[in-house]
Parts: sequence; structure tokens; C-alpha cells
Amino acid sequence: MTGLSDPFNRPINYLRISVTDRCNLRCIYCLPPEGISLLPHREILTYEEIAAVARLAAELGINKVRLTGGEPLIRAKLSELVAMLAEIEAIDDISLTTNGILLKQYSAELKQAGLKRVNVSLDSLNRDKFKRITRHEKLDEVLKGIEAARACGLNPVKINMVVMRGINDDEIVDFAKLTIDIGWHVRFIELMPFAADNPPEGHSTGDKTGINTQFMSAKEIKKRLGSLGRLEPSHPITGNGPAKYFRFPQAAGTVGFISPVSQHFCFNCNRLRLTAEGKLRPCLLSDHEVDLRQPLRSGASPEELKKIITEAAQSKPQKHQLTKGKVSGKRLMSQVGG
Ligand code: SAM
Repeated sequence: MTGLSDPFNRPINYLRISVTDRCNLRCIYCLPPEGISLLPHREILTYEEIAAVARLAAELGINKVRLTGGEPLIRAKLSELVAMLAEIEAIDDISLTTNGILLKQYSAELKQAGLKRVNVSLDSLNRDKFKRITRHEKLDEVLKGIEAARACGLNPVKINMVVMRGINDDEIVDFAKLTIDIGWHVRFIELMPFAADNPPEGHSTGDKTGINTQFMSAKEIKKRLGSLGRLEPSHPITGNGPAKYFRFPQAAGTVGFISPVSQHFCFNCNRLRLTAEGKLRPCLLSDHEVDLRQPLRSGASPEELKKIITEAAQSKPQKHQLTKGKVSGKRLMSQVGG
């Protein structure tokens, strides 16, 4: 096999880059209300360093990158990074995962710089509940951001909803209805237990299997949608990610399900992650990481850096261990990027 691969012959062609560990929301399943330590700026990779890593990764076989965080849009001049990545010929897809608050402000310049599409995380359409989940009153900004991104052609804009029983599961049908009414592409994501050593408030990592009481499986979520009609399987709208797509017969938009817990998709995993401080993380749900920042800053050659990236890919575990009760312990999701 040519290109980057792991020991299980999975081709690795997708790099998720976290550009910051800071966020302008504090979602209850992602961050505690206060008191986490943030990286000082000097510890965060510069845009030049990120682009250098992306260039080497592209030489090895990466052709898709996604920017994430923290909240990527709070890092200054993100479109400059997008433009640097867009210059890398082998990278043909640059996307962004955001909470959408700043999208209205930045959509046009991001598009101009070469961003192809965005995913917006939105867990409630109800003002009070949005505030309860995110601890901020920013629903209107997010909705305006989604419309701005669609209007700019950052399509398809995918809306990602993390479903939590007893918190926002009563809105599953409302979200799905928007695939019919206004053509949204909505993806329902299973809640993952994360940061076992330091769980966010209100998000107990629960029993040994890590499945807590707020967890709702994709199967159950899908069943709830029966009231809207028959869901028919649909082709993926873009990419080859883990979502399974469906469509209501009369809908312009799609409904996707992402089930990292109930039906893991590790056998198809094509990802490496780069944290804001320059660690390569081969698996979202394992704490194993490989440092790139120190070699980058101490003058390692391109060949040495490529060797580190290749070795990181080669250290990917076959699958995550959630069902055996092993969850990622050290980092919060905001420190990895989802
Ligand atoms: N700030 C950006 C955003 O809101 O999309 C990017 C970073 S955020 C950590 C990336 C994604 O991870 C979001 O869609 C968020 O909902 C998801 N996420 C965070 N914690 C999660 C958890 N415990 N289970 C499932 N998804 C989670």
C-alpha cells in the first residue's frame, strides 16, 4: 500500500487540526464551568508550524484537513491559516468544525481563503436550553452564522447535534424536521464519555462501561423520527466520514447518525489528530500521543518529521476501548477537537 497507513492497513488521509484549546462556550458535556488551565500562546503551534506539518503530512498521503478547537474561530486571522493550507496542492478538502457564533463575521473571508465547508455544532433550538447546555446566550448568533455560511457557499453546512437524554432529546424531531422544511443536513451524535479523570460538571462518566444515563443510542434516536415518515438510506453528502445518512422522501436535506459508542466505526478510521500544542494523537479515545512541537522547534529535518508522522500512524490502536470501560482520561474534548 502506498501513502500513510496504520498497522491494520487502514489508509490515513485525514488530519484534524486543533488550532486552540480555548472556547467561547462551555458546553456541559465538554468543559467544566471554570477552572481548566489553558495553554499559553507560546505553547501553541504557529500557523507556519501547522502549515509545515500539513505539508509534510500531505506528502505522506493526507488530502483532507479539518480545523477544530476549542473554538477555531476565536483564534485570530484563521483565514490566513486556511489560505496557507489551500496552497498545499495535495490537500483537496479543507473544512471547519465550529460552534457557529462567529461564522456570520468570518464566512466570506474563510470561503475566499479556500475553506470548502463547515460543520456547526448546535444542540438546541430553544433559547433557554441552549443556555443551559452551553452556559451562554448565543443561539441567535449561531443561527445567523449558519445562514451566512450557507449563503457564502460553504456547503454542505452540516449541523451536529449531540443528543442527551433528558436534556435535548425532546428536540430530535424538531431538528429532523428542518431537513424537510429548510434543507438542513442534520447529524445526530452519540454522547461520548470523555475525560474520565476530570469530567465536566453534569456529565458523569458513570458506570464501568462509561455509558451514562444521558446516553442515547443512534438506534433509539432514529426510532424517534418515525413520526416524521419513512427514512430512506441516502448517499453520504460529502466525504467518507463515519455518519450513516438517510433522507425523508420529500426532504432536500439529510439526516445522519454518528454512533461512536453503540456501533463503533474504527475499522474505517482514516484519521490523525494534531492538538493545538503540537501532539499527534492517533486515536480520539486513547491518550497515546506523539510530540511534534519539540522536534519542529529544534530544527528536525523534513525527513525526521515525516518519520514521526508515519510512526504515529503506525501506533493507531485497532479500535477504541469504551465498551471495556476504558475512556480517554487526560484531556477534555475541547483539548482534542472532537
Ligand atoms: N468548538 C467547535 C464546535 O463546537 O464544533 C469545535 C470543537 S468541539 C470539541 C467539536 C465537537 O465535539 C462538537 O460537535 C461537540 O459537540 C463535540 N463533542 C464534545 N464533547 C463531546 C462528547 N462528550 N460527546 C460527543 N461529542 C462531543
